[in-house]
Amino acid sequence: MNNKDLKESMINEERHTGKRYRRMKTVFITVSVVLALMLIASGFLYYKSFSTYKEQLGKDEQLLKDLSGKLTEKQEELDQKNKELDIKQGELETIQDQLGSIQKELDSLKERIAEVSAENETFKKENDDLKKELEEAKKALKAKQELKAKQEQQAKKDKQETKPKQETQEKQETQEKQEEPKKQTGKVAYLTFDDGVSKNTPKLLAVLDKYGVKATFFANWKPSLKEYYKQIVKKGHALGNHTATHQWASVYSSLDSFKKEVKTFEKNVYELTGYRTTLFRFPGGTSNTKGLKYNGRDTTLVPRAIEWLKSEGYAYFDWNVSSRDADGKKYTASEIANHVLNGAKGKKVAIILMHDMVSKQTTLEALPKIIEGLKAQGFTFKVLSNSSSTVHFKPASK
Ligand SMILES: [Zn+2]
Repeated sequence: MNNKDLKESMINEERHTGKRYRRMKTVFITVSVVLALMLIASGFLYYKSFSTYKEQLGKDEQLLKDLSGKLTEKQEELDQKNKELDIKQGELETIQDQLGSIQKELDSLKERIAEVSAENETFKKENDDLKKELEEAKKALKAKQELKAKQEQQAKKDKQETKPKQETQEKQETQEKQEEPKKQTGKVAYLTFDDGVSKNTPKLLAVLDKYGVKATFFANWKPSLKEYYKQIVKKGHALGNHTATHQWASVYSSLDSFKKEVKTFEKNVYELTGYRTTLFRFPGGTSNTKGLKYNGRDTTLVPRAIEWLKSEGYAYFDWNVSSRDADGKKYTASEIANHVLNGAKGKKVAIILMHDMVSKQTTLEALPKIIEGLKAQGFTFKVLSNSSSTVHFKPASK
């Protein structure tokens, strides 16, 4: 090989290398341009989507703000409504309270009306009874006046004829030592049982129940037999005051002691039964002289006691028929019944003395015969009351 050839080969070589370089450069530039374009496009796209998102976000935020504003508004409205509701609730409660108290007043008014009408009923009855009694008393008075006029005429005649006879009559009247019954209302029998209560009380009550008859118990205070006072009251019998102890030494020693005896019985029975008795019988009767030896024979004590009893609203009762079941002698049941039935004969009003004591078994046994016999004589049975016919002995005078 010569130099010319080598030179030519080298030139060829160089031409070939330059051609390859230029081609590679073109490729490189093209790729770069494409990549740059892609980058720009994606940037643009990203920017575009970002601004859309941002816009959306702004809109959403606004919406959220609006909603939150509305929510606050609603919340406030709700609070307001709640407040109003509370007020209404309060008003409702006040109205309910008022309604409750009105209802209570109404109830008590109703009760009061019932009470008043019951009282009215009782008054009416009492009024009717009183009217009847008055009517009959008037009749009786008229008859008595006529009788008296006749008797006076007769007496004048008698006086002229036989003086001693009249004296005997007067003596007899004094012996009886008792005033005439005040009112006469047909034949009325008042069964009275003194000195109870006792273990006999329920037995006496059973007999009275059997005949549908009411009686009057002049009792003393016996705390161990409380049940029997309740039964007497519950069954509609009258419960009278016969002093707490019946002990002469206590009852008749002084007026203060007497008052204490009466009030103790009254208070205890009232607290036990709710029944305040206004009926009284003196232990031993108004005319008894046994009490005098305990007060220096102060004959003013019983009259003063009577005045005090009246001022306390009491009516006091003695009797005009005695069963004599407290006599020294012990009578049989049959004798006791006869004492009562004979004693009641011819009387319009019979206040019958009997005793409620375990030792008076014969009185209990006589009671059916007494009730039947009095019924046969035309008596009706009543309990004593402040307006009853009454019998009063004269207080002892020496
Ligand atoms: Zn007595």
